[in-house]
Amino acid sequence: MSASYRDALRAALLYLVFSVVWLKSTGYLLTNLFDGSADLQRWQLINGYVWVVLSAGFIFIARARLLCFLGLGAKLRHRNEDRTRLRQAQAVFDCTREGVLVTDRQRMIVHVNRAFMDITGYQAEEVLGQSPNLFKSGHHPPDFYLAIFESLKRTREWSGEVWNRRKSGEIYPQWQTIRVIHDDRGQLSHYVAVFSDISAIKNSEHELAHLAHHDPLTDLPNRLLFSDRVEQALASAQIHKRGCALLMIDLDHFKMINDSLGHNVGDQLLKAMAVRLQGLFGPGVTLARLGGDEFAVLAENCPQVVQAAALAQRIIEGLKEPFFIAAHPLFINASVGISLFPSDALSAEQLLRNADSALFKAKSSGRDGYALYTEELTAHAQHRVEMAFELRRALEQQELRVYYQPVHDLKISRLIGVEALVRWQHPQRGLVPPGEFIPIAERTGLIAEIDAWVMLQACQQMCAWQNAGVVLSFIAVNVSTRLFARRELFERVAQVLHDTGLDPACLELEVTESAVMDDPEVALEQMHRLRELGVRLAIDDFGTGYSSLLRLKRLPVQKLKIDQGFVAGLPFDEDDAAIVRVIIALAQSMGMQVHAEGIEQVEQAAFLLEQDCDLGQGYWFGRPMPAHELDWARAPVIFQH
Ligand code: C2E
Ligand code: MG
Ligand code: MG
Repeated sequence: MSASYRDALRAALLYLVFSVVWLKSTGYLLTNLFDGSADLQRWQLINGYVWVVLSAGFIFIARARLLCFLGLGAKLRHRNEDRTRLRQAQAVFDCTREGVLVTDRQRMIVHVNRAFMDITGYQAEEVLGQSPNLFKSGHHPPDFYLAIFESLKRTREWSGEVWNRRKSGEIYPQWQTIRVIHDDRGQLSHYVAVFSDISAIKNSEHELAHLAHHDPLTDLPNRLLFSDRVEQALASAQIHKRGCALLMIDLDHFKMINDSLGHNVGDQLLKAMAVRLQGLFGPGVTLARLGGDEFAVLAENCPQVVQAAALAQRIIEGLKEPFFIAAHPLFINASVGISLFPSDALSAEQLLRNADSALFKAKSSGRDGYALYTEELTAHAQHRVEMAFELRRALEQQELRVYYQPVHDLKISRLIGVEALVRWQHPQRGLVPPGEFIPIAERTGLIAEIDAWVMLQACQQMCAWQNAGVVLSFIAVNVSTRLFARRELFERVAQVLHDTGLDPACLELEVTESAVMDDPEVALEQMHRLRELGVRLAIDDFGTGYSSLLRLKRLPVQKLKIDQGFVAGLPFDEDDAAIVRVIIALAQSMGMQVHAEGIEQVEQAAFLLEQDCDLGQGYWFGRPMPAHELDWARAPVIFQH
């Protein structure tokens, strides 16, 4: 037991004893006032008074000590609690990762924590008694600090970004919160500043900004930054009355390299391409990668068409030398589309679009060349917009028709299936072939509706033929490349089969080779799902894409359709004949049927039969026609030579 407690106990005991004595004495005094002899009474009375006074005195002292102890105890308790709180605060100060700096009201440093020393590089003794001006970086004007103290005066707190200097001299950003502390009398006593080093965040912000504006593979500006640069260049060109040129570059057959040599080689080639192109240009020319194998060039001072054309020519020539990737020489060409400011377009967006149209022109006129944007191209684009509008109307007005082209079994000379091919019965233009509107439908998204409609018509027609006793093995329907990878395809096919009640084995879906090879993994998954429904799958226009045999082998496909481009030269063109022979052998080795398209002459049919091709389709057997015109009895016999 502590000494103070012992004192308190003693005081309490004394207080108790003297209180009892005092009470007894007063009681005794009162009883003796009224009875007993006079002498004895007086003596006892004096004696009684003395006891009363003494006891009262002692009671007063003992009570005072007791109260004093109780008061002292409370004070001690408060002091203990304060000390614990201070210790906790100290621990928090020392452990926190934020730097803490306390100044007095004269703004002289009176306390700093460990994190402060870690961040600033200063030791406590070097800064205590100093002004925080010691850390100023010179980054902020004096007004900045005035505004801080203004805010502290008004709201007692301020937070914000401050650039300070470390002991090493390095300038770095801090996120700082400053608070004003007042004492019991409400007088300003201290300022407490808590700050964290945000240089890491700033660096990652900088990195993010770089990533958002640059292509990660080549580190060239991306489409976003390039568009911004074009906008700025046009604004400046307008002021200085200068001409600019925008060149869009697309690598020819880059996909083939990716598919045959792998994406790693493709990536390395793109990187090397960026370096090579960059080396071709001087200052005032910005090179960007817009995505995939598409690059763009902005020439900020290019007033003449000839100069722009010369630049394009330089690019094309510059790619004549091979690229060496993993010690392999790789040759690649490019097509370039050119659009000029101000003659072709006045806005950045228009300039980009026009260069894209010009590129399209360069590609369609035989690649490895350049093309300029012209009025004629604009007219072409306008025509497309009008077509899209009309096509939408055509769907609503039911102007589309499905034609059916016979497919013959070459060996038994019998019609065994049909391919459904869409047509547009235009009120003014007559029957429009699909080649003129399918690409527009694909670009505008209308293709989904068109293909769904054709599929429903075809399945209904097949059911009608079956009910009429016509024996056909299959009806083939084309699936757009745009829809092939989409989930809805499976749902739509399942729905049509359910609605029409057609045996799934009678429906064949034709998918182009490029649709399958664009994303083989997705294609594989989609094909397996469709096969689960029981439908047949065929690869259309085979030979025009870049199939990987390994991937082809994995596909659950029942048929390859040889593109009509190879059939056209049969039987005399040796290349075509060789390719057709290889495709037939390939299909047979993979257990698939072979189907040749575009047979226009009996000699072609005879050659194909000789090569063991299973099925044939073409004008020689019959053109695409409305359902009621099909001649089931027609069975042209192929005479072999
Ligand atoms: P495809 O699927 O390869 O269809 C074969 C095309 O070759 C058809 O052209 C057909 O008329 C034509 N053809 C058939 N035999 C001969 C011949 O002996 N000689 C020549 N020169 N051509 C022949 P069409 O009907 O103009 O269709 C062109 C393409 O349009 C089709 O090529 C197909 O890719 C697409 N297509 C047609 N209908 C649809 C459809 O409903 N949906 C989708 N997504 N595409 C369709
Ligand atoms: Mg087809
Ligand atoms: Mg085809």
